[in-house]
Amino acid sequence: MNACLLPRPRSVDEAPLVWSEVSRPEPADDEVRVAVHACGVCRTDLHVVEGELEPRRSPVIPGHQVVGVVEARGAQARRFEPGQRVGVAWLHRSCGRCEFCVAGRENLCDRPEFTGWTVDGGYAEFIVAPEAFVYPIPAAFTELQAAPLLCAGIIGFRSLRLSGIGKGSRLGLVGFGAAAHVAIQVARHRGAEVYAITREPRHRELARELGAAWAGSATEKPPQRLDAVIVFAPAGELVPPALAMLRKGGVLVLGGIHMSPIPALDYSLLYQERIIRSVANNTRADGEEFLRVAAEIPIRTEVQRFPLREANRALAELKHDRVRGAAVLEIRDGA
Ligand SMILES: [Zn+2]
Ligand SMILES: [Zn+2]
Repeated sequence: MNACLLPRPRSVDEAPLVWSEVSRPEPADDEVRVAVHACGVCRTDLHVVEGELEPRRSPVIPGHQVVGVVEARGAQARRFEPGQRVGVAWLHRSCGRCEFCVAGRENLCDRPEFTGWTVDGGYAEFIVAPEAFVYPIPAAFTELQAAPLLCAGIIGFRSLRLSGIGKGSRLGLVGFGAAAHVAIQVARHRGAEVYAITREPRHRELARELGAAWAGSATEKPPQRLDAVIVFAPAGELVPPALAMLRKGGVLVLGGIHMSPIPALDYSLLYQERIIRSVANNTRADGEEFLRVAAEIPIRTEVQRFPLREANRALAELKHDRVRGAAVLEIRDGA
């Protein structure tokens, strides 16, 4: 099969992914093989490709927002029928035995596998994944539209839950890419008022189109104090200004897997029971609930498509903030 292989991490501006012919993966007993039709491009892929996440498998095929159809099944795999449309997300597998898994917090598993980092991902024509960690994709979505839901969507959803927002809450979203453009739709559906904070004029424009009450840059201040702020941008220097936007008792949620160092804070920014918390991965329950809610609302994703073999270009566009909504690789026969 054809795949985009990362031999070793480098800047995306040096086109580190190599278009390669590799053998088609064989599903283990509890796995399915999925013929990939679309794979979303996530900021975490950038962290894998550029080495901010240290290599855990090398070479590796990145990509963890995978939509396709079940094409083969392992000996014990009976959950899905061949031809059924499914998705593979970041949490490839959890151990099921550690204290976190046992407590229903498999997102914090001690021995997890992650798609496109510790095991091969979806920048390829085929992928294998444990059937228990594969999601049925609701009929409401096309494959291209569904792809960004599988990480950007799910992580945004978990971030929203941890932010504690509800009807009438004022929520800030810092960084307005793939995750925020989905999260705003869920937040507004729940009756929250959304403030978008992003340096890119075209991202502010998308935020307004999606119903943001206000959109500005981090140096401007939203006109009101906010109940919660979610930072999706991987820039630690945004933490102090984001804290300064919170009212007393407000919550700051950091939604990324990696962030540049956070500068020293004046305690007054945190005092009055403001909370800072991170979000790590997701549970299957998060993913299942989100896909159900997303189909109900229904969420509309704004997608910029690229052919699989142009994954380097898609990553560069993402890195330089030139993607409106979410970038998705489209995979057809022969890619
Ligand atoms: Zn575990
Ligand atoms: Zn992701």
